[in-house]
Amino acid sequence: MTERTAPARAGAEQPLVLDTHDLARRPGEMREVAKVVPAPADLGLEGVIGIPEGSPLTVGVRMEAVMEGVLVTGAVRGTAVGECSRCLDPVNQEVTVRVQELFVYPERVKAAQDAGDDIEDDDAEAELIDDQADLEPAVRDSVVTALPFTPLCRPDCPGLCSECGARLADDPDHHHDLVDPRWSALQTMLADAGVTTSAHNVTTEEMKES
Ligand SMILES: [Zn+2]
Ligand SMILES: [Zn+2]
Repeated sequence: MTERTAPARAGAEQPLVLDTHDLARRPGEMREVAKVVPAPADLGLEGVIGIPEGSPLTVGVRMEAVMEGVLVTGAVRGTAVGECSRCLDPVNQEVTVRVQELFVYPERVKAAQDAGDDIEDDDAEAELIDDQADLEPAVRDSVVTALPFTPLCRPDCPGLCSECGARLADDPDHHHDLVDPRWSALQTMLADAGVTTSAHNVTTEEMKES
């Protein structure tokens, strides 16, 4: 699912590319990175909810040199913006995701390839190219996983009136007197078909203390 393409050099356009040069390939060597960067494009579920491009993304990670490469562990936080799936009100949701990715030294990847290891599958490890670790694919995967497919302004949002579109939160007693039995039959049919959405808890992953 994640494409492991060669990362470009760290810079303003690649805010999630980390330079690991300082680690000097000495196993055990560590660096902490704490910074706020502009969010890259397409960080979320398209058309549903996502962290807007350019909005602040707080990055706190530890880079650790290990035998195979550089292990990056930490968390990224931002604010996702979307629309309530029931009442269409704006939804702002803070999202904190954990990230952990091992960036393998290029020669290790090559050695594995030469040994015939199949690393073309989805679990292919990220590669460290020119000492640059591109965290963006891992962050994107984590953010997409953490966001709700059906965002809600609040867990018990009553949504809109199916008949006139009124916001039921503004008018809890709102109802229409329906006497036509064909209509109630249709409502029963819709309910049976699961058209009424059920309460769905937000699934933001909590930041774990390490
Ligand atoms: Zn709502
Ligand atoms: Zn109504």
